[in-house]
Amino acid sequence: MSLVIKNGTIFTASDTFKADIRAVNGIITEIADKINAEPGDEVIDAAGLEIYPGAIDVHTHLDMPFMGTVTADDFASGTTAAACGGTTSLLDFAIPSKGQPLKEAAAIWHKKAEGRSAIDYGFHIAIVEYNERVASEIPALIEDGITSFKCFFAYKGSLMVNDGEFIEALNLAKKHGALVSIHAENGEMLSYLANKFVSEGKTAPEYHEASHPAIAEGEAVHRGAVLAKMAGVPLYIVHMSCKEALDEIKAALCSRQLIFAETCPQYLVLSNKLYHANGFEAAKWVMSPPLRDGENNDIIWDAIRDGFVKVIATDHCSFNFKGQKETGLSSFAKIPNGGPGIGDRVNLVYSYGVAKNKISKNKFAEVVSANPAKIFGMYPRKGSVAIGADADLTIIDPLKKGEISVKTSHHKVDYNSYEGFALEGMAVMTISRGRLIAKDNKFLGTLDHGKYIKRKKFDPAEWSA
Ligand SMILES: [Zn+2]
Repeated sequence: MSLVIKNGTIFTASDTFKADIRAVNGIITEIADKINAEPGDEVIDAAGLEIYPGAIDVHTHLDMPFMGTVTADDFASGTTAAACGGTTSLLDFAIPSKGQPLKEAAAIWHKKAEGRSAIDYGFHIAIVEYNERVASEIPALIEDGITSFKCFFAYKGSLMVNDGEFIEALNLAKKHGALVSIHAENGEMLSYLANKFVSEGKTAPEYHEASHPAIAEGEAVHRGAVLAKMAGVPLYIVHMSCKEALDEIKAALCSRQLIFAETCPQYLVLSNKLYHANGFEAAKWVMSPPLRDGENNDIIWDAIRDGFVKVIATDHCSFNFKGQKETGLSSFAKIPNGGPGIGDRVNLVYSYGVAKNKISKNKFAEVVSANPAKIFGMYPRKGSVAIGADADLTIIDPLKKGEISVKTSHHKVDYNSYEGFALEGMAVMTISRGRLIAKDNKFLGTLDHGKYIKRKKFDPAEWSA
């Protein structure tokens, strides 16, 4: 099976060039000024279009039990939406409950995804406690290609780890070749504030924001960085949302500590005004961290441009407004945290970043594809346009205009966080291992196409320069 893409302009994290591409059996075999199609080749004319390494979303929650319910999107709907929005791979979080063997959680997540994924996928594993059993299970997970751990500093009483447990997770990562990420919010502060507001009868969704102050995120990033420094390992901060956290990241980076920061479209294009203008509908945007004030949007765009923020992922964690978000009608503390975004990341970052001259096209390739692949052990097979790499490509029409709507979204949740957002520059073709799996927001793939990505170990030496 051979695919030839002609007349496009290729943008990688480091280069821009016009070339044709040939993929055979899912692998890029040729990149040249001009490639002549042979009989039997499938040909795509990409004249006027931009070709990027396939976009990778390293932060999703599909088919996840949480806060007494289960996310609305499973792997079938989530990966279909991802494919239609230009994403070719994702990493989801396998989250064990306390006492559950990690290998059991990993096996459950394999089962959720296998045969039900339109795109390639891999897993992080959450470390929600530390003991001898947890330690003994790590080598088998690394062997299986699960080479990143997630620790929660928030969600007291369920997922939150204490500092001692976190230090042990860092030590395990160092010993076995994994990267630790954290949900950086101070869970004690959050829990104290939530209880206080509820006891005062302040139960509307806007108090979710009030109970997640930016200083709680700054504190957690600082603490995580200090503990990682003591352990002598790098650290990855998921869904960074505000200046308070960014300042701590900058301070660590400037003292030559290796800290990777990720943000998400919601912290770039949405603001906390949504909590104050929509009554209970504000529950749609109840997520942790919460949306911040608009000033933070620009501060984070600048931090992406300047290299302090390395990745844009989605934290897609979708709950229907009807029946799921409504669980919190009596109190914000009961609203399941999270929102959709898996199908909109590429178009939003292009339209509000590239088209508005906030970031370059090469920076776009870097933060939506190359860096996620490098940081999480998938590079150069993913995240690059190179001979020998998987033919995973996101093709964007820079002139195509559109508007985001739940009516045209492929996710299963009953709203879109970005309803009515105008787009300028949209993903028009998604190619996964040489196969056109989505075109003009129409799904052309199959759910048995996606393959498990067995990731390489994390090696800090690759980042020491
Ligand atoms: Zn998350």
